[in-house]
Amino acid sequence: MNEDIKLVPFKMHANVYFIGNEKVSVHLIDTEAGLVLIDTGYPDMLEVVLSGINALGFDVKNVRHIFHSHGHIDHYGTTAKLSHISATLKTTSTSGIQIPKSNGKTT
Ligand SMILES: [Zn+2]
Repeated sequence: MNEDIKLVPFKMHANVYFIGNEKVSVHLIDTEAGLVLIDTGYPDMLEVVLSGINALGFDVKNVRHIFHSHGHIDHYGTTAKLSHISATLKTTSTSGIQIPKSNGKTT
């Protein structure tokens, strides 16, 4: 997806932030229980997600939960890679999809 136009991460409203490009969105929510990601983009978007979290002033190690809105690859593409970074990460998939996890846990 290198041809996609990158967008500067920004605050959408209150504690909700946008990360992504003009086609795929990842939403970051800053909660009292840690950071929450809604979807994680295509598999080649790890750097977009990581740099976006950093640019917004957050630490990826504080991501506690990932929610997947549904089972398309552009919604869970970097989840397995992100699970390597944060040991306490949990994932929940509303569609019942099973995301490969590095730590052996299932959603
Ligand atoms: Zn979709």
